[in-house]
Amino acid sequence: MLTILQLPVLNDNYIYLLHDPVSGETAVVDPAVTQPVLDVLKQKGWQLTTILNTHHHADHVGGNLALKQKTGCTVIAPLSDQNRIPGIDRGVVDGDVIMLGKHTAKVISTPGHTSGHVVYYFADDNTLFCGDTLFVMGCGRLFEGTAEQMWHSLQKLKALPASTRIYCAHEYTQANGRFSLTVEPDNRQLQQRMELINQLRAKHLPTVPSTIEQELATNPFFREDSLALRETIKMVNKKPVEVFAEVRRLKDSF
Ligand code: ZN
Ligand code: FE
Repeated sequence: MLTILQLPVLNDNYIYLLHDPVSGETAVVDPAVTQPVLDVLKQKGWQLTTILNTHHHADHVGGNLALKQKTGCTVIAPLSDQNRIPGIDRGVVDGDVIMLGKHTAKVISTPGHTSGHVVYYFADDNTLFCGDTLFVMGCGRLFEGTAEQMWHSLQKLKALPASTRIYCAHEYTQANGRFSLTVEPDNRQLQQRMELINQLRAKHLPTVPSTIEQELATNPFFREDSLALRETIKMVNKKPVEVFAEVRRLKDSF
């Protein structure tokens, strides 16, 4: 089993530390900052071997250079972002496989939030690190991609096994859920989930990870086929990608 630690940093970022007790290898996903990662490594007695970046934004790569300098780890990041990922050693593309001990992760290209965004899918561990592509009840803003690109990217994630655990890079859940309720006010699962999430956040507890199954039931960016959603936003006869684009547009101005 892969040990996964979740570090809340900055306002709402999550850094993930992945440790394979068999090989002793340790990876960090999207190190926004350096010191909290070094502190955990020291406390656990782990040696950092790998940085995995999902995309080039500063709140995902901010710790790259200092961590690399202090630990000698290897930086793995999207090849197409090689000129804007600090310290990149290995550029990856869709379909590549990366290893952490005997654990393998498949690289899935998910452009939309940025043009080079990738996610890391550990199939045998039932675990997805999805950066800023998919959030709990939300998805990333379209900074460098089109709605069509993001929709295609999300289709790839929708097709993963329902039990896949979703580790996204931000705690945006409560705000996302408030928006989700405006486009699907009668979705019972969504209502119940929001009650739970409000309780968690009142205690400052994380709402991440989620699962693909939970997202299929409650995430409006996964629910372009829902008739209730389509009726609410008056897009009943539109194509799925058009419904998605409209939901994204509504969320941007929410
Ligand atoms: Zn980002
Ligand atoms: Fe981010």
